[in-house]
Amino acid sequence: MTIAFDIGGSKIVSAEVDASLQLEEKARIATPTEDYDSFRQAIAAHAGTGDDPVAISIAAVIDPVTGILRSANIPCISGRALAADLQQDLGRPVHVLNDAKAFVLSEAKVGLGRGHATVFGIILGTGIGGAVVLNGQLLIGATGSAGEWGHGPAAAVRSGADLPLVRCGCGQMQCVDALTGARGLENLHRHLSGASLDSVSLLQSWAQQDPAAAATMDVYLDVLGGALANAVNMFDPDIVLVGGGLSKADGLVPALDQELRKRVLNPRKEPLCIATEIGPEKGLIGATAHMREQLG
Ligand SMILES: [Zn+2]
Repeated sequence: MTIAFDIGGSKIVSAEVDASLQLEEKARIATPTEDYDSFRQAIAAHAGTGDDPVAISIAAVIDPVTGILRSANIPCISGRALAADLQQDLGRPVHVLNDAKAFVLSEAKVGLGRGHATVFGIILGTGIGGAVVLNGQLLIGATGSAGEWGHGPAAAVRSGADLPLVRCGCGQMQCVDALTGARGLENLHRHLSGASLDSVSLLQSWAQQDPAAAATMDVYLDVLGGALANAVNMFDPDIVLVGGGLSKADGLVPALDQELRKRVLNPRKEPLCIATEIGPEKGLIGATAHMREQLG
């Protein structure tokens, strides 16, 4: 048995995960985001008293050498070696994995990616993320950022549209993440049409064939599809699983798939992008599966 946690910026979900990756949810609590001691105590309080190892999926980038975390949503864990600290608190193995990586590993093991050799999972939400599983192995990379396709320069090469100038949260200018995340989409629409709309309303207007929304979405799909084609050419995946808040919009994943298939090096006959849900269970299963591989 493994005690697993899925930790986001607002809530922590804990569960027991058995040998066949079946899970039983145990608790849902608010995430202590500002105080590190409270954060550690919250985990300890829900980790049980046995000697079961602990697997954590968390909204943070984890340095694979030092184990130090960086998180925009949970400030109190930034700069901390969370696994080592919790291991000291609990006296048993603790494994911490980035949530996007846990999501994609879960899909590859027991979800829509099962049976595929190369699985690329992407997240379209407030930010743009992703991860790659190759022959059942999750790619981590030298610095833990393998599969993070959102932080290269964006370009609108098909439409030739003029893009707004945006600095990304990572510090670089014109990242795909900054232009095509939810706030980026809203900013793009303001830039192109002069109108302010939240991303949900904009995507609804697009689904209802509103001309201004259609013009923005054409540029949006140009930028997003071009960047995704770059990433797909790099890994040549069998399947691209698409999750995150924006992916739930009517018609978005099929439209992105169409754009992508026109722009990849080797055109595909079958759909490549498949919509999926990102729920806590994906984090719980992915982190547990990865820990078991690491512990051997
Ligand atoms: Zn960036």
